[in-house]
Amino acid sequence: MQTTIELKVKDSFIEDIRRGLPLINKDAIINEQALKEEGSIIDLVDSRRGFLARGYYGRQNKGIGWVLTNKQEAIDFSFFQQKILKAINKRKGFYQNEETTAFRLFNGEGDGIGGLTIDYFDRYYLINWYSDGIYSFKEQVIQVLDNLGDYKAIYEKKRFDTKGKYMEDDDFVKGERGEFPVIVKENGMRYAVYLNDGAMVGIFLDQRDVRKAIRDKYAKGKHVLNTFSYTGAFSIAAALGGADKTTSVDLAKRSKAKTIEQFSVNGLDFEQHDIRVMDVFDYFQYAKRHQLKFDMVVLDPPSFARSKKRTFSTAKDYPKLLMDTIEITAKNGIIVASTNNASFGMKKFKGFVEKAFKQMKTGYKIVEEYHLPADFQVNRQFPQGNYLKVLFIQVK
Ligand code: SAH
Repeated sequence: MQTTIELKVKDSFIEDIRRGLPLINKDAIINEQALKEEGSIIDLVDSRRGFLARGYYGRQNKGIGWVLTNKQEAIDFSFFQQKILKAINKRKGFYQNEETTAFRLFNGEGDGIGGLTIDYFDRYYLINWYSDGIYSFKEQVIQVLDNLGDYKAIYEKKRFDTKGKYMEDDDFVKGERGEFPVIVKENGMRYAVYLNDGAMVGIFLDQRDVRKAIRDKYAKGKHVLNTFSYTGAFSIAAALGGADKTTSVDLAKRSKAKTIEQFSVNGLDFEQHDIRVMDVFDYFQYAKRHQLKFDMVVLDPPSFARSKKRTFSTAKDYPKLLMDTIEITAKNGIIVASTNNASFGMKKFKGFVEKAFKQMKTGYKIVEEYHLPADFQVNRQFPQGNYLKVLFIQVK
């Protein structure tokens, strides 16, 4: 039996909970010290012990747990089953689409269970557990997926500090061990995916719509610079869209082989493209020295990065990043500015764009903007969950 702990909500936070805020914030709770074991069921109550909502205890940097329901229902196998089946039902279109075989099947609080995501990669499931608390429901979640039948294997990533508690250091959970890479399709493009090789699997599914836009509407005949390129997913989209050439820049050594692989699985000749293992900020200097101008530049940095020479934070340094980019983008060229930093919204992001272009005394026009794609369901009461912001900016 799971223990249930009553947590008293401060008066000033009761309205948030009633409205359906899914995150349990430490600041909202009077008796946080009552929490002992992660995975315990939490009943949020008001000062007269009136029931408000039920959730679980799981520490993430965001909060101390997630609300699961506003009813006094059991958090058991059938609870998880009902949530996951509902999520699958919403993604029927993806299951039927033969051109796209990788998508997010369950998106945390957007699908009713914060701290848990499940991605689908051509009959493989990848579960991300974001706290020890949600991990304690592993058996139920696995059982739901297993009951669906017709899958190859379930893999998992523990995205929390396991403090040495879980010894196995293998992401395989159940089914038949995969042979990687698995080649998934996305709008007809191919991507090599590894589910057993660290936190990042080779492709970020949330950029699907952006990759499609680049391929279908922007790339033809262009020289495209892809910065923070990782496995080069945007370069592949551009090349398939008829780009003259792509240049991919990432400082991780393995990015080069990974990018070559992505070109190759798409039948593209990687030798016609430039793949550089290099710090993006050094590359900017190099490009300026050689007076290079690109027709299109993709900027998709991590929210925070630390290299030997510098630290970078999108919340602070994005304007500077844009200024460097503006200098090497041709007139009428396109800058694809992206960030997944949840700590600021689109308005602030557009402010960064305004600031950078003003400093550079350059005109611009935002021609398109993107947020998370449809499979990354967002909880309306939790806008921070809608973290992705992408702007297509034309340089004037
Ligand atoms: N845009 C990629 C995802 C980027 S992930 C995509 O769509 O798939 C972030 C990448 O930034 C990582 O591969 C990391 O190695 C790289 N990175 C971080 N700091 C960097 C720097 N200063 N210069 C170049 N690459 C950097």
